[in-house]
Amino acid sequence: NALDRINKIDDKIGAFLQIDEEGAINKAKEVDEKIRRGEEVSFLAGIPMAIKDNICVEGLKTTCASKMLENFVAPYDAHVTKLLKQNDAVILGKLNMDEFAMGSSSENSAFKKVRNPYDLERVPGGSSGGSAAAVAAGEAYYTLGSDTGGSIRQPASLCGVVGLKPTYGRVSRYGLVAFASSLDQIGPFTKDVEDCAHVLKAIAGYDEMDSTSAKKEVEDYTKYLNKDIKGLRIGIPKEYFAEGLNDDVRKEIENAIEVLRKLGAEIKEISLPMSKYALAVYYILASSEASSNLARFDGIRYGYRAKEFEDVVDLYVKSRSQGFGDEVKRRIMLGTYALSAGYYDAYYKKALKVRTLIINEYKKAFEDVDVILTPTSPTVAFKIGEKSNNPLEMYLSDIYTVPINIAGVPAISIPAGFVGGLPVGMQLIGNYFDEGTLIKVGHAFE
Ligand code: GLN
Repeated sequence: NALDRINKIDDKIGAFLQIDEEGAINKAKEVDEKIRRGEEVSFLAGIPMAIKDNICVEGLKTTCASKMLENFVAPYDAHVTKLLKQNDAVILGKLNMDEFAMGSSSENSAFKKVRNPYDLERVPGGSSGGSAAAVAAGEAYYTLGSDTGGSIRQPASLCGVVGLKPTYGRVSRYGLVAFASSLDQIGPFTKDVEDCAHVLKAIAGYDEMDSTSAKKEVEDYTKYLNKDIKGLRIGIPKEYFAEGLNDDVRKEIENAIEVLRKLGAEIKEISLPMSKYALAVYYILASSEASSNLARFDGIRYGYRAKEFEDVVDLYVKSRSQGFGDEVKRRIMLGTYALSAGYYDAYYKKALKVRTLIINEYKKAFEDVDVILTPTSPTVAFKIGEKSNNPLEMYLSDIYTVPINIAGVPAISIPAGFVGGLPVGMQLIGNYFDEGTLIKVGHAFE
């Protein structure tokens, strides 16, 4: 069973920060009873799964892989957790990640590194590295992660699993520790597209506790499985195949495009020229929002408090200096700078304006195509330590995923091949609330 598998291999992988053996076994027994009594159960009932450690599960710790929240026990369930519990999911525990979801390699966890199941010397991607590795290593059938700029899709790509970032507002963020509220979305990691359709159906939907949650009916995503894609228009943005993309990765993606063409899709070259500004816009907006969201961690209300301090200001300073890791501090400083009087117009406001241009560009593109196809990441999984001293190089890992969060559209990463034994993912981007078409194309491709 899943718990045996975790106990056997997670020392090597490092995907789990907490295992709820008792809770999982009790739930499994409860489902067993229900089935014995002849009760009808959900498709997800009894299936072992796990949740990224920035999403609340009542009674379990939610650490965000930070010393700041090392001993924080969630007092309530996130909306997605509540929905999964209603579906009788067996929650195995909480998954490792980059601290506060900031990073692309899961090396920023304050507790331990996650390793890529395909090569233990390599990173699983990030920030939801534990969520991707757990599925790839067979420690859980599916997991949940969060995606602010690629944190579901990039690790899914590097670990050879399916990862979906839903449309902004499709899944409630209630109970997700906020990184950048206007970009964050929760989504599933699964081993295939069919499972993805089932999990998305379970976690999507309106929630009055999240003011940005969409009042839009949830579709039965499984109806998009086993469908024909003849005549479906797929856009290939030339900017995503330019300099910086590894040649072998490019070849795998080009092969995938050929497969889709043979299935009857109409392949069209398109242009998204604003994409070149996306990374800059992302790091200004995400850091600005983070600097504001993380202000609540002051050593008073939540989490870590410095042992010795002189007065209340000293208490804030010491608690935050000791509780946060380097990358989190870097983002808070960047964001505070971009929001400060005198720089606000030049950076934050300018970034918001460019965001609008990016949104308009995607809206326009979807007048001519049904989906857009790109690589998920410019490279396969890199070595542990290879980029950890160079933040800019690390930020480039997200070059193909951040524009999607800026626009708010949905996107899925699907395994598309291997380079040197390491998985390559392709990204399919859909129009707003059109996760169905992503499932349809992805399933036809698989
Ligand atoms: N790697 C990106 C960052 O560091 C994206 C993180 C995420 O999506 N949570 O901000």
